[in-house]
Amino acid sequence: MPALSPTLAFEGVTRRYGATVAVDDVSVQIVGGSFVALVGASGSGKSTLLKTINRLVEPSAGRVTIDGADVADGPAPALRRRIGYVFQTIGLFPHMTVAENITVPLRIAGRHKPERVGELLDLVDLSREVAGRMPDALSGGQRQRVAIARALAPGAKVLLLDEAFGALDPVTRDALGTEIRRLHERLGLTTILVTHDMAEALLLADRVLVMKAGRIVADATPGELLAGQGGADAQALVQVPRDQAARLAALKP
Ligand code: ADP
Repeated sequence: MPALSPTLAFEGVTRRYGATVAVDDVSVQIVGGSFVALVGASGSGKSTLLKTINRLVEPSAGRVTIDGADVADGPAPALRRRIGYVFQTIGLFPHMTVAENITVPLRIAGRHKPERVGELLDLVDLSREVAGRMPDALSGGQRQRVAIARALAPGAKVLLLDEAFGALDPVTRDALGTEIRRLHERLGLTTILVTHDMAEALLLADRVLVMKAGRIVADATPGELLAGQGGADAQALVQVPRDQAARLAALKP
């Protein structure tokens, strides 16, 4: 039996940097197994909120829980093995092969088994032949797949994606997004995707949270957003892909 997908909760989470309130009293629950997109303009607090989950950022007030347990209890490395984290700049170790990169968290945890490398490459749909390559011999999309394999290697059930597809070309980005969604279903993950791209959020997520000035100003399903609900801030973001689709349709001969 696979473990149940973890439920996350932010309870009055605030994070200040001097006079800047990056995250402002956010309370929201993310039900286990859901795929949530966190959308908003640059500087709205998305990354800061995401990083309070794996303690890369400590809240100034409030707390984050996973299945009811405060993430601040216990050692951070153990917490981070349960939480896959992938960000735009990838962060593969350039002097290590793909196989070595993927197994870093397993080796740190003393749980490395060589056969896991092949399984993890299969998981992210990479050929097993890339195991011995160095990261600079891979395309951007392949590198990001390696980063995802590494993030999930210790059996993480929570996946945090912080603009993880941001540096990729649109075709690779679209394909990888679809695959992540499949991976989410297959492994029973709880996934949070930070993106400034509302179209990506609508296409991939079950639920879209819109952030503005550190607060969540909309919380709706893609269906609700497409039906014009969710409020003015959310609708302003939905309007962008809507207008693009309309302009493309108008180009039809
Ligand atoms: P987003 O991910 O939506 O682009 P961030 O969470 O990165 O937004 O940033 C929210 C706000 O907090 C911004 O005003 C940003 O400048 C500020 N901020 C984020 N991290 C730091 C930091 N380490 N030091 C000072 N200010 C920060």
